[in-house]
Amino acid sequence: MDSIEIRTHSALHVLKGASKKILNAKWTASTYVNGPHGRLTLKFDRKPNEEEISQIFKEANKKILEGASFIVEKLQREEAEKKYGDEIYDLFPIPPDIKELYIVIIPGWNINACNKQHVSDTREIGEIKLDHWRYRNAKQLLEISFNVI
Ligand SMILES: [Zn+2]
Repeated sequence: MDSIEIRTHSALHVLKGASKKILNAKWTASTYVNGPHGRLTLKFDRKPNEEEISQIFKEANKKILEGASFIVEKLQREEAEKKYGDEIYDLFPIPPDIKELYIVIIPGWNINACNKQHVSDTREIGEIKLDHWRYRNAKQLLEISFNVI
């Protein structure tokens, strides 16, 4: 990943934390990064309103400005599950033969098993701006697209 994609990918963690805070959306269904463009797709049981989406971005950018740390813990899978439970996982499973996990933590905000590269301080992300969002009722998926600026 080049440095813009490291920032965009890191923004996904911040955005997920904000989505959990505002919507209580727990499960990530998929993620996408291409340069400064990112998309977070969440499993969610209803269509949110515009106000909720703008709250998510407000909270995410507030967290970015705080300069929160990205902490990475390398743990045995069993140990990680015991310590953090299923919060470390997304809807797409990690293959069972992976025995060691990198747990990426923004303290009090987001925790996720992830082996990609991250910034060390949320301020390095810059700012995230909503591109568009849509809710797919049949699949109960909320897609939030954004750009890092
Ligand atoms: Zn990550």
